[in-house]
Amino acid sequence: MSSHGARKKVVFRCDFCHSPLVKRTSHLSHDHLRHDSFNCTNPVCSAAFTGHTELTGVASPSGLPHALPTDLPPSPAYAREIAQRAHRLQLCGSQPDLLDALPLPADH
Ligand SMILES: [Zn+2]
Repeated sequence: MSSHGARKKVVFRCDFCHSPLVKRTSHLSHDHLRHDSFNCTNPVCSAAFTGHTELTGVASPSGLPHALPTDLPPSPAYAREIAQRAHRLQLCGSQPDLLDALPLPADH
């Protein structure tokens, strides 16, 4: 952000005129799914769009000692990290890698 005020990050542009879109409404329809509507910032165009934002996986586990369980699966990159950690533990036995001290997600 600059000292001249907060600048909004342009997430989407209008298909019709390529002006930035601003989010007008958003509502949660599920714990992991949010519906959004966007309006074109060009007043002459004023097109509107709808879409959704969805959480699909855990990219990194919570650092909280008593974190709530989640139904979300590990993201592909995080699942690969978990598998590599298990593989290293098999190879090295009881001598874990320094990074293996990082938490793994709870089994769900
Ligand atoms: Zn437009």
